[in-house]
Amino acid sequence: MKRLLLVVSIVSTLIFIYFNQPDHTPYEQAELDLPTCVLTEPMIVTRVSYFVDSSLRNIYEKGLAQKQIELSNTILTNSCLPLRRLLVSFEYVDLKLSGEEYFDELHTQGSMSIGSDKLKLLRENPLDFYVFVARNNHLVFDDGTIGATDWELSDSYILLADDSEPDTLEHEFGHLMWANHSETLLFSLRQGELERSTRPENRHLIKPYARAYKCSNAGTVMSYEEVRLPIYSSPEIKYRAEICGNKLHADNRRRVQEYINKLRG
Ligand SMILES: [Zn+2]
Repeated sequence: MKRLLLVVSIVSTLIFIYFNQPDHTPYEQAELDLPTCVLTEPMIVTRVSYFVDSSLRNIYEKGLAQKQIELSNTILTNSCLPLRRLLVSFEYVDLKLSGEEYFDELHTQGSMSIGSDKLKLLRENPLDFYVFVARNNHLVFDDGTIGATDWELSDSYILLADDSEPDTLEHEFGHLMWANHSETLLFSLRQGELERSTRPENRHLIKPYARAYKCSNAGTVMSYEEVRLPIYSSPEIKYRAEICGNKLHADNRRRVQEYINKLRG
């Protein structure tokens, strides 16, 4: 009897493990169910300037930046948002980095190397954005980070590692548009966490619905899921028959639309 019990428990454990294995099925475009998109407003085009550290001349080529811009536009198109990105310049600059700067120091150092006046012009126009690309072995990427922004430091600036992924650019743009990562599991701690790291006068910009989402085995662009979909979270979109957002807690698409409305204003 004891032996039978042992066999039954081993078999049921194996069945449990089998059915709880993570689903690594790669992204399948045909499974993405997008609603019919009718844009009533004119398209807004943002201009993106890349400044790549000259040490990456043979590693990070213009084609990589173009690929990131193209994927950004696919994500915006799929999400039915009247916003597009255009690569307007790509240049190698000796950013004169020591490799140990903190995020804001890196921005200051890079800005001095490029020329503050040049960046000032880009910062003054809300449709202009600038991207620094630095080596992945820089201290700022030590924790596995491949892209970063701080819209309170500069709402026009994105930092990328040379090994960032094609959708990292739009993920970082998402942060500049107040879209955020997925909600924490079990308890909703994200709102407090985000508010604590934001100046009091800006906290009203942190919305509880601006979160990423996981549908089926994949996450939306602001998530950290291994398989990521080329969309912002939205209750209007489905993947493998599962809804990719919800109105109250996961609608980054709405937050980006609100950012676009403000740009227009
Ligand atoms: Zn992020």
